[in-house]
Parts: sequence; C-alpha cells; structure tokens
Amino acid sequence: MHTEHTDTVVRAQRVDKVFDNGCQALRQVSLEVRRGEVVVIVGPSGSGKSTFLRTLNRLETLSAGHIEIEGVDMYHGATNINRLRQRVGMVFQGFNLFPHKTVLQNVMLAPLKVARRPRAEVEQQARALLDKVGLAERVEHYPGQLSGGQQQRVAIARALCMQPRIMLFDEPTSALDPEMVGEVLEVMKALAREGMTMVVVTHEMGFAREVADRVLFMADGQVLAEDTPACFFGAPSHPRLQQFLSQIL
Ligand code: ADP
Ligand code: MG
Repeated sequence: MHTEHTDTVVRAQRVDKVFDNGCQALRQVSLEVRRGEVVVIVGPSGSGKSTFLRTLNRLETLSAGHIEIEGVDMYHGATNINRLRQRVGMVFQGFNLFPHKTVLQNVMLAPLKVARRPRAEVEQQARALLDKVGLAERVEHYPGQLSGGQQQRVAIARALCMQPRIMLFDEPTSALDPEMVGEVLEVMKALAREGMTMVVVTHEMGFAREVADRVLFMADGQVLAEDTPACFFGAPSHPRLQQFLSQIL
C-alpha cells in the first residue's frame, strides 16, 4: 500500500504485539516521526521498547496495527522487505561486528553484498564515514583491537553506509564502560544536527534533554507519556513517569 509522499518517515498505528507465550509486549502503540526528528524512548526494563524498535524494521510480526516507513506498508505481503530494510539503519547494544574482517571491510560488506553497489563508490563512502566517526586511523584494524566505544562507532558507520532514511538505536551505550559513553553520544548528536531522522532508546537522560524533539515514556507495552524534553522532565504528567524519573535522576 502506498500513500502520498510526505515528510512522515514513520507512521505506526495502534500496534499490538503478543508473543507465542502469551506475553503482550505492545498495546496500541502509535508513533509518527517526521523527517529530521529525533524521538527518544525511555522506560523501565521489559516495557516493550526493544520490541517496538524491532517492529519498525519488521524483525517481529505484528498482532495488530499498521506500520509505514515513508508511506510504504512494512507488513504488506507485496512489500520488498529487503529493500525497505535498507532504509532503516539499526544500532544495538552489542556491536555484532565480524571479528575476522577489518573495520573497513565490516562497513563495506552490506553495501557491496546486499545493496550491490560499486566497490569504489562504497569504499570512498565507508572511508568518509569512518573519518566522520573519528576512526580514520583504524580502518585496517580488527574489531578485537578496538575499544567498545570505537566498535560501536564502527557499527554506526556501518549502518550509515547503507544510506538509511532513519536510524534506530537500541540502548547503544548500555554495554559500554562509562568513559566511552560520551564519544558514542557525540557521534549521535552530530548525526542529529545534520538532520538524520532518529528513534533512540536510551537511559541517557542528558542526551534526551539535549537532543530529542520528543520524548516517549513506555511502561507495560504502552506509551504513557509523550512530550517535549522540557515538559517531559520539567513537568512529568503521568504518575508512573514521575516514579520512573525519581528513580533514575
Ligand atoms: P525493553 O526493551 O523495554 O526492556 P522488551 O521489548 O525487550 O522490553 O520486552 C517486552 C516484553 O516482551 C518483556 O516482558 C519480555 O519478556 C517480552 N519478550 C520480549 N521478547 C520476547 C520473545 N521473543 N518471546 C516472548 N516474550 C518476549
Ligand atoms: Mg530493550
């Protein structure tokens, strides 16, 4: 199903997800993300944040509801899912780099093998992206020779090299030693400043305050609050959100 081209990158409407074991991870979750927006999702463990991000890339099936990326129905049978997935970059907590490939090879792999783009063009872009995330000196290194923060920056460059229309981040700094969190957040801030559309699940409230256009609070598979950072943190509307913020701030 196609709708008119608009500036809406993500349109998720009343999404339910019930796993086979009966666990309902998402209840009527709706979200619209416009081009260039940064949406941060926070909430307690088990609230459905990761499940929701995964539905945006069709890594899960839906039990009910509807998701469009740039007007294309992610769950329509006729949708070419591989082409659509290339538009959605994803960065996880773990970096999942190939250990026996160099940094440069890791970044070039999907553009060559999945997108089948010309090698010279891909290599030029990969080097430029690695330069941008501060790893120009590390292109011939192997992942095992890098710190966690450096590996996560490679993972971001790798996702960007597929030329996504939106980037999804699922707790990208949660597995990092504290001293490496900042360098990864800086790369994400730069991306946001350049106008990348982003949905970010994180516990980094400073990042949310500084970078988010909107912040969502999820609990029990529902979006319980959604606001600008100033209102979200300054005047939290929902009792569950007040409780959550009092525990982490
Ligand atoms: P969060 O990312 O907010 O911590 P998740 O999306 O990982 O939450 O999980 C939401 C709920 O769905 C949890 O109760 C979790 O146990 C459950 N869940 C997640 N993945 C699966 C799965 N593959 N099978 C069954 N239950 C799952
Ligand atoms: Mg999660």
